[in-house]
Order: sequence, then C-alpha cells, then structure tokens
Amino acid sequence: MLTRYLVRFDDICPTMNWTVWRQVEEALVEEGVEPILAVVPDNRDPNLTFDWPEPRFWDRVRQWQARGWTIGMHGYHHRYETEDAGIVGRNRYSEFAGLSRAAQRHKIAAALEIFAREGVAPEVWVAPAHSFDAITLEELAEQGMRFVSDGYSLLPHLDERGLLWVPQQLGAFRRMPFGLWTVCLHHNRWKAAEIAGFRARLKQYRSRIANFRQVVETYADREARLADRLSSESIRLARSARGVLGQALGNAAL
Ligand SMILES: [Zn+2]
Repeated sequence: MLTRYLVRFDDICPTMNWTVWRQVEEALVEEGVEPILAVVPDNRDPNLTFDWPEPRFWDRVRQWQARGWTIGMHGYHHRYETEDAGIVGRNRYSEFAGLSRAAQRHKIAAALEIFAREGVAPEVWVAPAHSFDAITLEELAEQGMRFVSDGYSLLPHLDERGLLWVPQQLGAFRRMPFGLWTVCLHHNRWKAAEIAGFRARLKQYRSRIANFRQVVETYADREARLADRLSSESIRLARSARGVLGQALGNAAL
C-alpha cells in the first residue's frame, strides 16, 4: 500500500490573511498541487479576521474551482454555539453538534444556498472544529453531500449513510509508512518561516500528494472494516500522547 497525502486549507473566507495566502497559492500553483479549500460560506467568526474583507472573494473561489481545486463546505457561520465535541471528539465546541435537527437542516440548507447562488459546488463537508453529530451527517446526506473530510482511519471508507469519509489526521507533513493522510493547514498566522517551510514540504512530498478526486475515485466503494476502527483508535490515542505523531496530529486545531 502506498502512502498518499492530501493538502487541506481551512478557514478560507473574505477576511483571511491574504498577504500570506498569495504566497501559499503561488507555491501550490508552482508545484501543481491541488488542495482542498474549506470555504466558510458566510463567516461570522471574529477570530477569522486578519485582513480587510476581499470584495471579490467569490470570484476567487470560482477561479480556484475552475482550476480544478476542491472546494469544501466549512460550516455555515463558523460560530460555535454548543459545547458538544460530536463524533470525532477533537474539540469541545461546535457550530452543529448537539443542535436540533431543524436547526442543523436550516444551517446546511442556508450554506448550500450561498454556494449555489455563487456558482460554486462544494464537494466535501469540512466541519468547523471537527465537530458534528449523527444528525449533521444525516442532513448532509439528505441534502446531497457525499464526502466528509474527517476522522482518524488510515484509508477512506463508506459509512452506513453512504457518505465516504476521507480521513484527516495530520497538522503537518510527516513521513508515514502507508495510508491516506490529509494534512490540514491554517495559514492565517503564518510568518515567513512557516511559508518557507510549506514551500519546502510541498517540494519534498510532491510525488506523493494526490488530489481529492483521485482519492474518491480510488476508494468510492470501500466499505469500513474492523481495521478502520482499530487504526482510528490507534491514531486517536497517538494524538493524545506526546510523541512526534501526537504533536503532528495535535497541530490540527480548528
Ligand atoms: Zn475553521
């Protein structure tokens, strides 16, 4: 089994750090890496304010989409309303987990409506704070979403709702012996050193970086097995330990 990586950037919204982003985007284009960009459709989270709002934000999103990059739906407002860690259990705050079905259905529909109005097709669910519950998943499936970027398994697998889970385990590039690893990055607070490090890692790992479409084509019919549950548990435990892997995994914050 080969090791493959996906690159995901979260918190893509009009007030993100555009100075850093321009350099990140340039590096991605130069290396021909096609990332997942987790777009907040209507950001109301003041913690994501790093720049003046980009008035042509949706033009930019449409350009990324036209380039073949994968657009993710990163919640609706990115504002936490509950203290429920949800199924993945990484953070004790959520925009979705613990809310009623009606409330969740409304948020997902409203988010999808914004994407539709802007001519953007979000392909994958990327929960703010990795936090969502069974109701979120049922409503996502009901409203046509097919892919989830989350969880700790080694390989993508289908769940009982027909959603394909593409695991997201790393907060930085690390050499892994096998499996499909999504590296989740947050560029808003990066300085020159982090940008340079990102460029270097892209070059170093380039031959093993896939794009989202290749991954879902490869694993579209893969049922979950016992091994998925076991590997999820091991990776979950490694995250809470203080080893190298734990640190890499622990870097994945919001
Ligand atoms: Zn986020």
